[in-house]
Amino acid sequence: ARFLESAVNSEALLEQHKEATGGKVRTRFPPEPNGFLHIGHAKAMNLSFGYAQEEGGDTYLRYDDTNPEKEEQIYFDSIKEMVLWLGFTPKWVTYTSDYFDQMYECAIKLIKKGLAYMDFSTKEAIKAQRDNRTDSPYRNTSVEENLKLFEHMRRGYFEEGKAVLRVKIDMQHDNPNMRDFIAYRIKYAPHPHVGDKWCIYPSYDFSHCLVDSMENITHSLCTLEFEIRRDSYYWLLQALDMYRPKVYEFSRLNVTGALLSKRKILALKNKNVIRGFDDPRVMTLAGLRRRGYTPEAIRSFCKDVGVTRNANQIPNERLEQSLRTDLDGKVDRAFCVTDPLRIELINYPADKVESLPAPNHPVHADRGTRMLPFSKILYIEKSDFRLQDDKTYYGLAPNKEVGLRFGYNITCKEVVNKPDGSISHLLCEVDLTKSRKPKGHIHWLAQPRPGVDPIKCKVFFYDDLFVKGANPEGDSGALESSLNPDSLVEYPNAFVDPIFHDAEKSKVFEKYQFERLGYFVVDSDSKQGDLIFNRSVSLKVDKLL
Ligand code: ATP
Ligand code: MG
Ligand code: MG
Repeated sequence: ARFLESAVNSEALLEQHKEATGGKVRTRFPPEPNGFLHIGHAKAMNLSFGYAQEEGGDTYLRYDDTNPEKEEQIYFDSIKEMVLWLGFTPKWVTYTSDYFDQMYECAIKLIKKGLAYMDFSTKEAIKAQRDNRTDSPYRNTSVEENLKLFEHMRRGYFEEGKAVLRVKIDMQHDNPNMRDFIAYRIKYAPHPHVGDKWCIYPSYDFSHCLVDSMENITHSLCTLEFEIRRDSYYWLLQALDMYRPKVYEFSRLNVTGALLSKRKILALKNKNVIRGFDDPRVMTLAGLRRRGYTPEAIRSFCKDVGVTRNANQIPNERLEQSLRTDLDGKVDRAFCVTDPLRIELINYPADKVESLPAPNHPVHADRGTRMLPFSKILYIEKSDFRLQDDKTYYGLAPNKEVGLRFGYNITCKEVVNKPDGSISHLLCEVDLTKSRKPKGHIHWLAQPRPGVDPIKCKVFFYDDLFVKGANPEGDSGALESSLNPDSLVEYPNAFVDPIFHDAEKSKVFEKYQFERLGYFVVDSDSKQGDLIFNRSVSLKVDKLL
């Protein structure tokens, strides 16, 4: 990797650092526990965990928990769950709040050095000072007075929003972040990890570099919007004579059509547009898992995207392709008839049931064979029958023959209508000799016993949550008006392969290819006897065999 600025450390600091790490690479992944991890975080993890792994080093999972009012236990839990799910193993799990005592000591040290001051200006006034490069009227308070006031702030003598601790750098600096950033602010909110011990909390700019240094991070990787904060990161560590990690920035990742904003996902959940933060259409890691993504596919996608400093808006098709590539050799094939059309074989005995072998994988014979029942009543997709045949059509039509994959050939002899004129079922003739090679083969499922239908299931097909060209992360007014009405298509009366008789074969997140339909995953709302499948991704070639 290319590091933009090497940290300058004294010999003594380097010695100390080397002793702590044993000369090994050390990185950290520092999510704020105020939301669920998403595909962008996967890129960040891939870089931080990935780099350390390559170099034989170690990685911290660090909860960056300095905004107590926004943080909740479910986020802590789900972050860890998804880090492990993606296949990363933190050597340590820490909290920024673990270091609150040490950070407080750092603040006192700074005040004593004349490098921090208590400021009672309003939020607006501080912003104006920083914008206009004017000093705060509180900038020259004495060290003794500042120490006393900071102690008062810690004890809760001031109201929230009435006082802050600011570092004293340079109000004329061209980098706005160097114009005396805020180090501590008051929040009378209990903290999810350290309870009500503190009513003052360090800011990102104050805490991040200190914890990176205390944890002896060698390479601190973050997204590009933090580049502007690098000067102050180094300034603070230098002011406190602390070890300085190398900072490296990379671009944020987004995927076309993906909604990553926590606030917007929540808005759609509250309006029942989506089922939750793990809805298969949302690109949280939990959503991708529920959609049927594998950790391997996500990691290989991130690797593919690489470590660029250019803005990354990656087409969703690339993510989908990484899933197909991963699943192709891995998962079994099975049959599913999503929208069944009933067929009666007029020349097949009513009480006979055959078992026909079907390979579980077209290439990997070691994946075995399953037996498909074949009988007088069977089901095909409604979309595999047309009243009007034509040259480019490979399915079934009146007086046309079609092959049943791993089965026999059938010819449609009669279309039976319902009283309303719609199709009720077809009467077909079966040719058990398979003497002719039909133009196309279709998937099917037969009654396993006379009068008993195949296993019922629900199948959900997904499309982009938003219409093409919409910008869901942008203007919030466009959020609902640009929703794709067909982002979820449900098939409530589908039939599925007999392998699902076996409870072992219907575990949540198990993946299959349903022949001709795509890759599918068992949804987390599934129960034995009430199976739900999500389509993860279509097959590349979506046509008859
Ligand atoms: P968000 O606002 O989307 O939740 P964030 O910037 O608040 O993201 P954290 O949740 O604190 O970030 O994320 C932890 C790490 O993940 C940070 O280092 C951050 O830079 C990185 N990260 C967050 N979003 C992305 C993204 N879209 N692409 C790459 N890295 C990201
Ligand atoms: Mg976040
Ligand atoms: Mg953040």
